[in-house]
Amino acid sequence: MLKTTGYAAKSPTTPIEPFSFGRREVGPGDVRIKILYCGICHSDIHQAKDEWGGSIFPMVPGHEIVGQVIDVGKKVKRFKLGDFAGVGCFVDSCGKCKSCKANVEQFCEKHTTLTYNSLESDGKTPSYGGYSSQIVVNQNYVLKVSKKAPLERVAPLLCAGITTYAPLKRYGVKKGQKIGVVGLGGLGHMGVKLAASMGAEVTVFSTSPAKEKDAKRLGAKNFVITPKSENQIKKQNDSFSSLAEKFDLILDTVAAPHDLNMFLRLLKRDGTMVLIGVPPKPYMLEAYSLIGGQKRLTGSLIGGIKETQEMLDYCTRKKVFSDVEVIDPTRINEAYERTSKGDVKYRFVIDLKNE
Ligand code: NAP
Ligand code: ZN
Repeated sequence: MLKTTGYAAKSPTTPIEPFSFGRREVGPGDVRIKILYCGICHSDIHQAKDEWGGSIFPMVPGHEIVGQVIDVGKKVKRFKLGDFAGVGCFVDSCGKCKSCKANVEQFCEKHTTLTYNSLESDGKTPSYGGYSSQIVVNQNYVLKVSKKAPLERVAPLLCAGITTYAPLKRYGVKKGQKIGVVGLGGLGHMGVKLAASMGAEVTVFSTSPAKEKDAKRLGAKNFVITPKSENQIKKQNDSFSSLAEKFDLILDTVAAPHDLNMFLRLLKRDGTMVLIGVPPKPYMLEAYSLIGGQKRLTGSLIGGIKETQEMLDYCTRKKVFSDVEVIDPTRINEAYERTSKGDVKYRFVIDLKNE
């Protein structure tokens, strides 16, 4: 086993702390990566605190990984020593089922091994994520990162980037369309940048009035303040009426329970609202929010390897990178607290060069 240092949650109620563990030796199809940077996604926090249930401890979170190739197996053709590489939300799948063949390995019918908090194909070895010194991954699940790109700003693209890029592409966002982004956090700020880069007119819906200036700098044309508490919602519905039936597509990135119906009313006839945030509690849905105007409420889960590579290449070409606050590993717990309060501009990225 390869001795690896990292940072783990040992239980849902204890802080992230230093943790040593073993990674598998490099197999014929594997790439070994020295991790340089890893983003902190809100999914890391949900899982480390076991908010979705079923978490496996100890847990080394992290699925926004960028690093440098330091070893390759005999059969590896796609990577050589010194290349920059990325690893996103999953590290294995069966490769043969309909979903894998359709390049949506995140929906593999046999097993998708998530980068952490998951089991490998043997059904018993836990996977450990990117808050660590190195990772060993089959070459088919490793992304190519351009040496010209700012690596710390690329790391968040491996989850926040692909999760917002995939639905924007799927629903054919183009110049002149009106796109709403709900929640200006890690995913939201990438949604704004990407939709604006595709020529859309972007409106941010945020509970944080202080983010207005940033929203415009990131590429939004409009900024609308949304209420957090139930009793403010009625008032808000009145002020929303001027926006009714204006939007082609709305991406909802919010990590906490909130009212969906007020956003569904803002869609044009046949418009689409995509849920990408995963609050731990269910939503209340009014049937008429969908029936009036035959609107569509759907979801989206990250993206397959092919589309993730396409997104990385697109972002490098268009110079669309994440706004990041780079931190030392000793500040992971502080970053969790600040992200949970919406106090992040707009992604914390852990510097792991010295691990
Ligand atoms: P984040 O950086 O914490 O951003 C979430 C944003 O939601 C906050 O910045 C805040 O924006 C807004 N918000 C927070 N609490 C709120 C509340 N009570 N009411 C209304 N708005 C609130 O999180 P993230 O990393 O972007 O992740 C967002 C969600 O997406 C998480 O649930 C995560 O698990 C999920 N996710 C899903 C996928 C997928 O494939 N579907 C992939 C990655 C992550 P404002 O301050 O602007 O209101
Ligand atoms: Zn994520």
